Amino acid sequence: MTNQKSLVIGWLYPELMNTYGDRGNVIVLQKRCQWRGITAEIKEIGIGISDKDFSLCDLFMMGGAQDTQQEVVAKDLTKKKKAFKEAIENGIPGLYICGGFQYLGQYYKTADGNKLPQLGILDMYTENPGRKRLIGNIAIDAQNLFGKKTVLVGFENHGGRTILGNGIKPLGKVLKGFGSNDSAKEEGAIYKNSIGTYFHGPILPKNPELADYLIKKALEIKYGKNFELEKLDNSEEEKARKVIAKRLNINI
Ligand code: GLN
Repeated sequence: MTNQKSLVIGWLYPELMNTYGDRGNVIVLQKRCQWRGITAEIKEIGIGISDKDFSLCDLFMMGGAQDTQQEVVAKDLTKKKKAFKEAIENGIPGLYICGGFQYLGQYYKTADGNKLPQLGILDMYTENPGRKRLIGNIAIDAQNLFGKKTVLVGFENHGGRTILGNGIKPLGKVLKGFGSNDSAKEEGAIYKNSIGTYFHGPILPKNPELADYLIKKALEIKYGKNFELEKLDNSEEEKARKVIAKRLNINI
């Protein structure tokens, strides 16, 4: 018997849902596995892929898009809702960015008042009031996820404001920027091991602790509890974080 660990990363709708370099998240997940000797296969899940493919994945990533692509994907994804929901409810970890995050909720109301039904896996909804888009660099404290002050930095660009319902915690408190719900100064969502956020840019290269959180959860679900990840040298990532922190005038 071999000790070799392996993960399958399901990349949802790579051609349609991939703005502002969101594919970088998949590269980071794969690289941080490989640097530790863990095999990481990327499985592209797009239009026409069968339900069965969801059950083969240990970790999901879905990027953001504009409203037009979102409508196309919403139609296709609805057909696969059962398999996708099952994976999320079973604790399969995932990172869902912007439009990808909005899909998990009940509906997305566009700026012209069109109410597009979403998957309804999470008790939340998003409305785009048609006033100013929320654009710029952002920093949050993701204490809710890590149990201690942990600053995540990134870039956001969205019109939708997401309102969370019961059983869903925000990913963090906004330190600088707008957040997924600018009036509450909250950002993102945590449901089981699924994480939703508006951070593009992409998020994981600048926030390796979040990448490792997802990898660790995926390994624990697959191989059992308390999986300790080998430490990696994050000095390059730290430099990138410092650049954003300086622009935002915060200490990290
Ligand atoms: N339609 C969304 C919004 O503007 C998604 C944007 C995105 O994914 N970048 O709110």
